[in-house]
Amino acid sequence: MNASERRALLEEVRLASSCSHPIRICGEMVQLDTGEIRRRELKVACKDRRQVLCPACASLYKADAWILISAGLVGGKGVDQAADGHPKVFFTLTAPSFGAVHTTRANGTCHPRSKTQGFDRCGHGQPRSCDMQHEGSDEILGSPLCSSCFDYRAAVLWNAHASRLFSHTMRQLQRRLAAAGGVKRTDLWSVARINYLKVAEVQRRGLIHFHGILRADGSEHASSAPPSWLTAEFLSQTMAEVVRSTTVTGSDGVPRGWGRQFDLAEVEPGDSHAASYLAKYSIKTTDGSKHFAYRFRTRRQIEQLGVDDHRRTLALTAWDLARQMDYRHLNLRLHAQAFGFTGQLITKSRGFTTTFQALRAARAVFMARSNEFRTIEGTFTFTGRGYDHPRAVELANVFFTMDKELRHERVEARKRARMAHMSELDARSQAHDGAPQALVEKKFALPRLGSDLI
Ligand SMILES: [Zn+2]
Ligand SMILES: [Zn+2]
Ligand SMILES: [Zn+2]
Repeated sequence: MNASERRALLEEVRLASSCSHPIRICGEMVQLDTGEIRRRELKVACKDRRQVLCPACASLYKADAWILISAGLVGGKGVDQAADGHPKVFFTLTAPSFGAVHTTRANGTCHPRSKTQGFDRCGHGQPRSCDMQHEGSDEILGSPLCSSCFDYRAAVLWNAHASRLFSHTMRQLQRRLAAAGGVKRTDLWSVARINYLKVAEVQRRGLIHFHGILRADGSEHASSAPPSWLTAEFLSQTMAEVVRSTTVTGSDGVPRGWGRQFDLAEVEPGDSHAASYLAKYSIKTTDGSKHFAYRFRTRRQIEQLGVDDHRRTLALTAWDLARQMDYRHLNLRLHAQAFGFTGQLITKSRGFTTTFQALRAARAVFMARSNEFRTIEGTFTFTGRGYDHPRAVELANVFFTMDKELRHERVEARKRARMAHMSELDARSQAHDGAPQALVEKKFALPRLGSDLI
């Protein structure tokens, strides 16, 4: 490869934002200084959010998710700054248990045998206890103690109804809050709005759980204050009552509700820690691997997956349930790779924050300023995937890693500067009155959930 070919390769990867499998499009472009129109092929970033498929695009998506969520927490990006002072509750909602799974409890144990019963086996001859202490990387975590006792059908159907259960929970919350405010549910908006954002995550046992934020606003969303009775404490208490009592009944007549373990925590003004916590989940596939990154086309594809029996059985159960009359409308075949979960990964109410689309559009305007070409809209068509040069993907990954390291160094340098500033303040205040001043930031407490729900 000569010098000019090397330069062209470097430029190509840079222009595709170090994407691992860019999309090739062909169309007309105008050269800004001469006005000349030329036909060119471009390789543009794939914009896939999944880290295992494209680290560079996923990293950008995660950054956008962070901006989106923190704007909903503390304002900015078109969200009124007043949102920061509105009552907010961080929630974690889980699925019920569908059978004991290998886990790590707070004290490190799994399912130690009970002192009174001693060693015991289920009807299938499998031990009901596990005396091991599993490492976090142990593949067995999340797998059932007995796969015949684990109710795969009920687990997959719970996943399939999780989004509906959440919507219904929000309606119930609004109903109760409306009653507290002395208005009909449909009139709640005239006094208050409950805006939310939620992120779905698949736990290791294969069940969906939701993390998210509720924010109480006035009738004009973030720019108006909620009524004084609608405090974070009241919102949290009401949500707890609703979570305990809400169920949805599927077309099979089975009612489905939340698991007993859920977590609700008030979020203090100025606290955006929840944004990093939630953004982390936005780039995951069902199980963090490539196996469940795409929809399955045949049952055989699932049968041949090189994964453990538990995950394979969850996907197969979803695939097979799709044939049953009661579940046809759930389109479970299209969602077998998500173990039956039919919803979106990130969902939010319209008033909570800005949109991914708005963030991308703002970035496109910013990037366009430095371009010497401008694309002519409507002339571009899809021509394929990937780079021409076989080593371009490798180069893309090198660029991405280098960018990440540079970003990390910048963040660390800023942190060090802030720490130095704080210890200076601390020293000064101690010199003043002799008493040490607390300069500890209020930390967002991550939800601590029970062991069965890993
Ligand atoms: Zn990409
Ligand atoms: Zn175990
Ligand atoms: Zn059993």
